[in-house]
Amino acid sequence: MSAAMRILLLGGTSEATTLARLVAEDTRFEPVLSLAGRTSAPAAAPVATRIGGFGGMDGLAHFLARERIAAVVDATHPFAARMSANAAAACGMAGVPLLALTRPSWQHRPDDNWIEVADMAGAAAALGTTPARVFLTIGRQELSVFAAAPQHHYVVRSIEPAKGLLASATLIRARGPFAVEDEVALMRREAIDVVVSKNAGGRATEAKIIAARKLGLPVVMVRRPDRPDVPMVETAEAALAWLIARHRSASAPPPLGGVG
Ligand code: NAP
Repeated sequence: MSAAMRILLLGGTSEATTLARLVAEDTRFEPVLSLAGRTSAPAAAPVATRIGGFGGMDGLAHFLARERIAAVVDATHPFAARMSANAAAACGMAGVPLLALTRPSWQHRPDDNWIEVADMAGAAAALGTTPARVFLTIGRQELSVFAAAPQHHYVVRSIEPAKGLLASATLIRARGPFAVEDEVALMRREAIDVVVSKNAGGRATEAKIIAARKLGLPVVMVRRPDRPDVPMVETAEAALAWLIARHRSASAPPPLGGVG
């Protein structure tokens, strides 16, 4: 039997956790899950886990060589653009096969009222000058961008505490998945005028988009950043199939012939 294949899963998403579960029981693989360390209580995964940055592209390339990684699945969030760019560059440099596991974007429907913008600064600008009650569901990292639009009251929902980042804010700490009826109730209770969201895709946080549609509220939707041009799948099961194919080709005997 061939040796287990060492694989690196770049995580921070539910897809990465699902893939970790799929490979955990599969003796063909020896996985390492990598997390950035942004959340204090990440979802438990049944595989070896390392936490923290690699030290840029060079640090990741060294990690791949040192740990004898034979394949990488980039299952980071669609907005984790720097990590994805580093993964593409480091894998290219080290000659390690790379697959992106990325959930599909949410698609605009005729009964949606979306204002699509390129980035968070564009989202803050799109809120306009008239004071509004804004449901901000963008995580913590880019909240300070909205300090430039202090005329609005922000209802901020995040996994980690967001205290002190915005002057006029109601803070809600919660982790998805969320139900549509709860999102409708929250938006009504907080008298929300507009929702700001990244186009993250996925089921766990889609309820706010459906709730806004039901209530006829506008959604300022931040488009996904550009990602490197690497092979991509949308589900953990498809990523597992790719890994199995990599394992198969790595353990195939060399072709016959060539030696006289
Ligand atoms: P980012 O801007 O693309 O990455 C910034 C730096 O964080 C990277 O250069 C890398 O540091 C480190 N990093 C990111 N993901 C890592 C991982 N899985 N393992 C080890 N180091 C990692 O990423 P981000 O937007 O801050 O996201 C950080 C993490 O949160 C990611 O794992 C992502 O999947 C998750 N997440 C992000 C969002 C979002 O909206 N951005 C939402 C949900 C979850 P070095 O350069 O030192 O290697």
